[in-house]
Amino acid sequence: MTNLKELELWFVTGSQNLYGEETLKQVSKHAQLVADGINNSSKISVSVVFKPIVKSSEEIFETLQQANAAKNCIGIITWMHTFSPAKMWIRGLNVLQKPLLHLHTQFNRDLPWDTIDMDFMNLNQSAHGDREFGFMVTRMRKNRKVVVGHWQDEEVLGEIDVWARAAAGWHDWQGAKFARFGDNMRFVAVTDGDKVEAETQFGFSVNTYAVGDLVAVINNISDAAVAELAQVYERTYEMEASLKPGGEKHQSVLEAAKIELGLRKFLEDGNFKGFSDTFEDLHGLIQLPGIAVQRLMADGYGFAGEGDWKTAALVRASKVMGLGLNGTSAFMEDYTYHFDPANAMVLGSHMLEVDAALANAKPKLEVHPLGIGGKADPARLVFNVDGGNALNASLVDMGNRFRLIVNEVEAVAAPHDLPKLPVARVLWKPLPDMKTGCAAWIYAGGAHHTVYSQCLTKEHLTDFANIAGIECVNIGSDTKLDHFRNQLHWNEAFYQLQSK
Ligand code: MN
Repeated sequence: MTNLKELELWFVTGSQNLYGEETLKQVSKHAQLVADGINNSSKISVSVVFKPIVKSSEEIFETLQQANAAKNCIGIITWMHTFSPAKMWIRGLNVLQKPLLHLHTQFNRDLPWDTIDMDFMNLNQSAHGDREFGFMVTRMRKNRKVVVGHWQDEEVLGEIDVWARAAAGWHDWQGAKFARFGDNMRFVAVTDGDKVEAETQFGFSVNTYAVGDLVAVINNISDAAVAELAQVYERTYEMEASLKPGGEKHQSVLEAAKIELGLRKFLEDGNFKGFSDTFEDLHGLIQLPGIAVQRLMADGYGFAGEGDWKTAALVRASKVMGLGLNGTSAFMEDYTYHFDPANAMVLGSHMLEVDAALANAKPKLEVHPLGIGGKADPARLVFNVDGGNALNASLVDMGNRFRLIVNEVEAVAAPHDLPKLPVARVLWKPLPDMKTGCAAWIYAGGAHHTVYSQCLTKEHLTDFANIAGIECVNIGSDTKLDHFRNQLHWNEAFYQLQSK
């Protein structure tokens, strides 16, 4: 999908010419050590690249322009080792288009009590230099992340990595293409939205493709390729005899394999990063794609059902943000509830399309009728998902802005078998509790479709929303409903004032 180490954060250290050559040599040497130290930390998933220190408006403008144009540069980290008068930064910050992290650090961790003198004081000035820079970024109303602490501190490095991953997800969206087979599910509101505004704000495009064109690609897949993929299924998943060659349902498996090969080819040929489909528009397709979608998601494609392009795009960005972390991020739907007051929880699933990367054991390939859409019985992978900390995230179009809603949840192992449920499923308890979590989600306008993530935290998604410049509301262990509702009201006023 993407190798995060190929992505670069540029480490830009501000200073000024006032200090003289000797001091500036020291600044440069220290900055290089800090940049290399962060780059070499096992906590950091991207590359951190030292840039020559900047000492004037011209050097700042030049460096930030280069960052804008550099293909692999996903953002910049700034640090003012010394004082860097911030009017020098105006021109550069005005044109900066890449995400910005302000690292408020210092070369030395401790005060050298016995030796500290005015030379030391004049070199190690970030305590005031970074405040001057911070004022200007605030004054210019620029989005940025501020991380505070010594650069070798593990917590600081962790915070930098969270933001770096958000910047990587954002980078992945720029110029990304998402394909829609069919329109939105008829009359559904929350999955719809303004695709023009989304492209303007988020950088990805969503366009429609005729299902017939996809069917033409599927029909061109050779029988030999289909047979080969069916064998992969047989090796990879549990299958009853009726699904294997000679069995009565084997034809359904072959059809599903053919759909997967065709979809994969269509997406590869068009350089798409994700897609959506809808069961209301499957003309020429024999089944609603089930296992095909489940396996494509596991390979990194964004997807959401019923034409939900916003969730498909968010699934994709979340997969990029979570590369290399334990667990995955997946398309999910709040399906049905267990309202036992002592043990309330949500059962999450979808008609078919639950990401195969969520499986906690070898999935079972099954063929069952689908009570909707009027197509042939589709093949799908059925499995359970591990418990643990997780979250749900939903991107909604509020008309004047996009809002990202995040709810931290505790996933739990199924307390009982679900022998008759023919789809993969997850169980979770919303934080802070079922009633508050669900009420807050509904007040915020969160969708039934979500990105369910086992590996991302609210910090990743908050950083991502900040980079995107959109509203983000978190529902978690400390959420109080009255305060949360007030926050929504205040945000409403803020975004009304902000919109032009
Ligand atoms: Mn759905």
